[in-house]
Amino acid sequence: MLGQRVEGHGATDAKIVIVGEAPGKDEEEEGRPFVGPSGRLLNEWLKQAGINRHDCYVTNVVKYRPPSNNLKRLGEIGHTIEEGIPQLWQEIGQINPNVILALGNLSLKVLTGKGSGFSGILKYRGSILPSSHLDCKVVPTIHPAAFLHSEGEGAKGAMKYQMRYVVNYDLLRLKEQSLFRRYSPPSRNLEIVRSPIQLQRFLDLYADKKIVSVDIETLYGIPICIALAFNEWHGISLPFFDLMSWQNLEGISRTELSVMIKILATFFARKDIKVIGQNFKFDHSKLEDISGIKIANVHCDIMFLAHTLHCEFEKSQAFLASLYTEEPYYKDEGREFDWKKDNVDRLLLYNAKDAVIAFEIYLRLMEACKELVVPGFPNWLDDFFFGYVMKLHNFYKDMEEVGLAVDNTRRKELVNEYDDKIKFAQHELNTIAGWEVNVSSPKQVQLLLYRQFKLPLRKGVDEDTLVALEANIAKLPEHKRAINLIGIIRGLRKAKGTYFEAKPDYDGRMRTSVRICGTETGRTSNSILKPPLRPTKVGLAFQTMTKHGEIGAELRSYFTADPGYDFVEVDLSQAEARIVAHLGRDEKTLKLFADKVDIHKLTASWIFGTPPEKVTTELRFIGKTTRHAGNYDMGKRRLMQIVNTDAKKFKIGISISEWRGGQILDKFHSFCPSIRKVFHTEIREALDQNDRVLVTPFGRYRKFFDRWGEDLFREAYAHIPQATVPDHLRRAGLRALDRYREDKITPYFIGGKTPFVIEAHDAFLALVPHEYVGRYIEILNEELERPIDFTNCTLSRGPLVIPAEAKVGRNYKECKVKGCPGCEGMHDYILRAA
Ligand code: URA
Repeated sequence: MLGQRVEGHGATDAKIVIVGEAPGKDEEEEGRPFVGPSGRLLNEWLKQAGINRHDCYVTNVVKYRPPSNNLKRLGEIGHTIEEGIPQLWQEIGQINPNVILALGNLSLKVLTGKGSGFSGILKYRGSILPSSHLDCKVVPTIHPAAFLHSEGEGAKGAMKYQMRYVVNYDLLRLKEQSLFRRYSPPSRNLEIVRSPIQLQRFLDLYADKKIVSVDIETLYGIPICIALAFNEWHGISLPFFDLMSWQNLEGISRTELSVMIKILATFFARKDIKVIGQNFKFDHSKLEDISGIKIANVHCDIMFLAHTLHCEFEKSQAFLASLYTEEPYYKDEGREFDWKKDNVDRLLLYNAKDAVIAFEIYLRLMEACKELVVPGFPNWLDDFFFGYVMKLHNFYKDMEEVGLAVDNTRRKELVNEYDDKIKFAQHELNTIAGWEVNVSSPKQVQLLLYRQFKLPLRKGVDEDTLVALEANIAKLPEHKRAINLIGIIRGLRKAKGTYFEAKPDYDGRMRTSVRICGTETGRTSNSILKPPLRPTKVGLAFQTMTKHGEIGAELRSYFTADPGYDFVEVDLSQAEARIVAHLGRDEKTLKLFADKVDIHKLTASWIFGTPPEKVTTELRFIGKTTRHAGNYDMGKRRLMQIVNTDAKKFKIGISISEWRGGQILDKFHSFCPSIRKVFHTEIREALDQNDRVLVTPFGRYRKFFDRWGEDLFREAYAHIPQATVPDHLRRAGLRALDRYREDKITPYFIGGKTPFVIEAHDAFLALVPHEYVGRYIEILNEELERPIDFTNCTLSRGPLVIPAEAKVGRNYKECKVKGCPGCEGMHDYILRAA
């Protein structure tokens, strides 16, 4: 046997025992657990939670340091993990604590029998669990080392810095649990409803309650059961099908099932019944489309509420339950349900549990939101959340339903064209290399670049690395060309796979799935529709569709407006840049915007010292990219990467080196000094003075939890402009929808609900009946051009108007400011505006 044994250490009458994995180098040298970097971080956490380490007993599952701190190599020094476990129980038993803090996966598994694999601790952290051998509780959390591994630059498997705040929650729970011995998980009354009478009795029991939590379970995308709860301790689940008879159990008759569905349909049609749920757009669409149950009043999605409160944290129900309830991690009860092995009751009870827990999360989140003070927005919860954010539920649900008609012949042509383009580019690359290079194989690309071309070795061969190699390192033209071709082939393959081979939905229309809480700024993100949304993958992530370059044009060419309809694209002109100028009190730039000067051309003329009329497309492109980079304080390397990558994408024949990027940025800041002097300085001061909180003009609140420093500042500079644009756009869209309804235009939109089909952060694409295009634009432009009041923004300013511009076309690609060919004179408004 080798190695120095490191025994546990601490108070022998401790109420808290802390169990780690195995000692490291420092621990082995000092003969005490947790004295090295992990120990120092642990001490910091304990202090923050108000726990005195001297009152705790600290030990490890394994008492010997494994070679290279790798538990898999423990055998090399003649030890096993298992050998120390009986002793560990004895050791803890002698201390007889109320609670054990399990640090990391191994400790969790050994002390509770729960979790396996790497994600165990992330599921179970924060739960209060019974210990598997002793009469005491276990609270698991993330091991401090997980944060330390991530300190190194570009480290993989990095634990987000923000998760330290989550650990703090867990330790506060630990402290609370250390005060008593009793293990008392929440008790909930979960019932399975098997008859209409039982359902009606449940509804009658809560007849005076108006808020109901709802959850469904699906099989192959089809809702098979639904759960309801009017409080956090009593929930029911009922099947939509005779699930019991699938397992040869006593079943429910069809008549009874249909009566139950009828009761539910009547219940949910009531406007006074306020429905709450988690990620409820999914449940809502499924209930409506497949089960025929319409819901009149969706009151609160706890995912939106959690995101609006703390956008930097996860929003899954499992995570929210770990923070806001004492329910131990339970989601595997549903995820691991096996129709062949498990009784269907297990699934129904799990369904009911989801509904009651969502209710509890809702109550706790509401309490947290009521306590939150958002400066300048005294009625923040009602005005911002219920008055705006929750309206996005129906807004995007309707938008998702409309979708776009597809010209399939054109789509197939594009697939063939792209196959040819790929073949040509691949042939050229093979000729340079002298062998068939698979550009998707990092190994083969590394072989080509670092072995054959002998370029200096870099980490990986991703797009950013290739761009840097081509711009700064490769000297020979054939090397540059080969690197370029690798990027081109990858781009073409991606475009073909993602865009042109995308499958339309069952009715032939292309759709997207909108993630309303997809980003921290409140911008949405899009994805394709995959199980359980649809049985197989269909649709396209609309927001990822590039507008620019050849691919953008080709992509748009296969979407056509439905007969009698036009595409109308209305976008906000240079919205983010205007907001930055406004926040930077940059009157000069604002005046240029007001005078409709081509700001990017002008920026390029400042940078390159050329008169504006001599600025080429290439230089203008650099002017535009530099303004964006300068606004958000990006560095020279990032500017170089963006310029070179985008230039390639949009076929603009220019590239810059990192050094040149630095010079360009210096020039930009010397011409626009207020960006740094006013905008960036005031943001940093605000973060410092307002407990790291920024609030946008509309009341979108964000607390920045990342490590204090440049990366956090950069996120913060971008936050107000990037959050304000989509909020302004959507608020205008919501007001416009009300006006279309008043004008009685709405029934003529496809589906009779909304004209909007795509929202791309500063623009709406809509399908509008030909004869209503003028009115559609008039109303939307009026709403978009309403001034944004910055009085209550963290950086308080006056009002700002962002002009909007409309384009119309029959084919998405051919949208033009002057209207589509053949309909001149139809769109008076546009002609007037243009
Ligand atoms: N990591 C552990 O798990 N235990 C220690 O004692 C030190 C680091």
